[in-house]
Amino acid sequence: MATINDNYLKLKAGYLFPEIARRVNTFVESNPDAKIIKLGIGDVTEPLPEACRTAMIKAVEDMGDRSSFKGYGPEQGYGWLREKIATQDFQARGCDIDASEIFVSDGAKCDSGNILDIFGKNNKIAVTDPVYPVYVDTNVMAGHTGENKDGEYEGLVYLPISADNNFLADIPTEKVDLIYLCFPNNPTGATATKEYLKAWVDYAKANDSIIFFDAAYEAFITDDSLPHSIYEIEGAKDCAIEFRSFSKNAGFTGTRCAFTVVPKQLTAKAADGSEVELWKLWNRRQSTKFNGVSYIVQRGAEAVYSEAGKAQIKALVDFYLENAKIICDKLTSAGFEVYGGINAPYIWLKTPHNLSSWDFFDKLLQTTNVVGTPGSGFGAAGEGYFRISAFNSRENVEEAMKRITEQFKA
Ligand code: PLP
Repeated sequence: MATINDNYLKLKAGYLFPEIARRVNTFVESNPDAKIIKLGIGDVTEPLPEACRTAMIKAVEDMGDRSSFKGYGPEQGYGWLREKIATQDFQARGCDIDASEIFVSDGAKCDSGNILDIFGKNNKIAVTDPVYPVYVDTNVMAGHTGENKDGEYEGLVYLPISADNNFLADIPTEKVDLIYLCFPNNPTGATATKEYLKAWVDYAKANDSIIFFDAAYEAFITDDSLPHSIYEIEGAKDCAIEFRSFSKNAGFTGTRCAFTVVPKQLTAKAADGSEVELWKLWNRRQSTKFNGVSYIVQRGAEAVYSEAGKAQIKALVDFYLENAKIICDKLTSAGFEVYGGINAPYIWLKTPHNLSSWDFFDKLLQTTNVVGTPGSGFGAAGEGYFRISAFNSRENVEEAMKRITEQFKA
């Protein structure tokens, strides 16, 4: 009989979002008239920007004409899109990133998991706790961990984040090889200053570590002093890979387009002790296992960089940020201890009366019919916290906040 990858059996059974769905379904079965408002999963709700739609319609027409038809495209993405990304997202911010270092893909989620293909089995890996669960689960699948004991996988280094350290992990005292950082952060909504990222870059360079920097939410940064890219920090090209996405700025969660930056000078060690360029390995990996993003979608992504696209995307991000502000203000006035939600679409709150994350989830569902995400689902140190997402219609956000403030008012 064929055998399986046993590492999959180590994954925790009740994954967060299925468990949320199960509890909501059970509640709705016995309360069929309840008007549920979901502020849980971080999916966008507002339609695609017009500039992107127009570009994609034009691209569909291109596909209908032999002279402009496109078959297989370059696995790394079309040059015209990579060029726009390099100049507008990076060079315009003083980051010396070349178009050839941009790899267009169908998702930051896939890339942050797939990147492990090009790394060895014996790296020491650090994640924050709480954390975007994909980083942990993909390492479990790849066999980089032992079993899950009390909510933590053996073999991973967990860096706790809480209100005590402003949701910014302390730089480890031990040596780790791979570090996942995410700013603006999912789930806490925390942001990183240049000084903070500089400390990580210095650590990584001193320890020959690689930072996986997930900037999927960079568009939500409104504070001009905060870095959008890790490459704004001197030395980061020697030690960091960056993941970006069109999902949350341009509403591409269903359309699918993202990219990963692998600087050419970035190296890691082979078994024979030689230093190998990670760019070459990622290029080889993508050329072999990935067929590129569709021409139509890449044209849609390119439109993000047009004048009209930039204005429409700003309006979209501003809309969600206004939702976040309403949520922060209302929850604060109802007596909640609230974090994030300023340069990020996530609001991270302390559960009242020391309720566990799941007890608060049930209480909120039953008393207000509002669904959020229990902090403990993002890691053991998320216990006692709760995530509310600003991705929703204004009407739903206002209604949810009205119900919560009435129920919990201080
Ligand atoms: N990275 C973080 C931190 C996320 O929260 C998400 C989605 O929620 C992603 C990546 C996924 O991005 P994409 O839609 O490009 O796969």
